[in-house]
Amino acid sequence: MTDRKQQLADNLARVEERLTSACAAAGRGRDDVTLIVVTKTYPANDVRILHGLGVRHVAENRDQDAAPKAAECADLSLTWHFVGQLQTNKVRSVTGYADMVQSVDRLKLVAALSAAAERQGRELGCLIQVALDAESGGRGERGGVAPEEVAALADAVAAAPGLRLGGLMTVAPLAGPYAGRQRAAFDRLMEISSRLRDDHPAANMVSAGMSADLEDAVAAGATHVRVGTAVLGVRPRLG
Ligand SMILES: *Cc1c(COP(=O)(O)O)cnc(C)c1O
Repeated sequence: MTDRKQQLADNLARVEERLTSACAAAGRGRDDVTLIVVTKTYPANDVRILHGLGVRHVAENRDQDAAPKAAECADLSLTWHFVGQLQTNKVRSVTGYADMVQSVDRLKLVAALSAAAERQGRELGCLIQVALDAESGGRGERGGVAPEEVAALADAVAAAPGLRLGGLMTVAPLAGPYAGRQRAAFDRLMEISSRLRDDHPAANMVSAGMSADLEDAVAAGATHVRVGTAVLGVRPRLG
């Protein structure tokens, strides 16, 4: 094994251990939670190593970095998640490799994603990003829509050709009433998810939890955790 492969294998094993204990503590099966490794700022070769170690879900947040990386890894069977704030002029590129966009947060983006997915003759999974720090009508500091706006946006995704409504995503807020209260934030997300599922029973994905707070997310009921640093190491720059 190369040094890097060994390092990633060790990190992955530690994250796997954390997930296993968190699931056990919550009375959930380990299979109920999918690990998505956030590979942003790290090279395509790391993605290749991770695939060799059994990782099947990866996430990126910038199209400029993600597009060439996904192209280099096109021979690997991977599900690519896009988790960054997305400008409509990047949509055509992102839908070329992403299987799921987790950061849907406005109607204009829904329309652009739908048009691109249709043009490519494919179905694109979408999660609504919820900003728990957003006031009514506002957008979150890190993207996302206010909880009050989730239903309307979800209806738009569900009605849009080429799109499939998968569920919800959030990033624990740094400001507002939930700052520093990850478990409360994720519990709130689960309430919003439960309301969403009344209207859209199949939209049962809940993407929450990162390196620092994956246990809170699993305890609350998240179906997907997005882990970067704990697997790949501390990023050289903010990404
Ligand atoms: C970077 C990022 C992650 C991973 O964060 P870590 O703290 O490195 O685990 C998760 N979700 C989103 C949206 C991100 O941008």
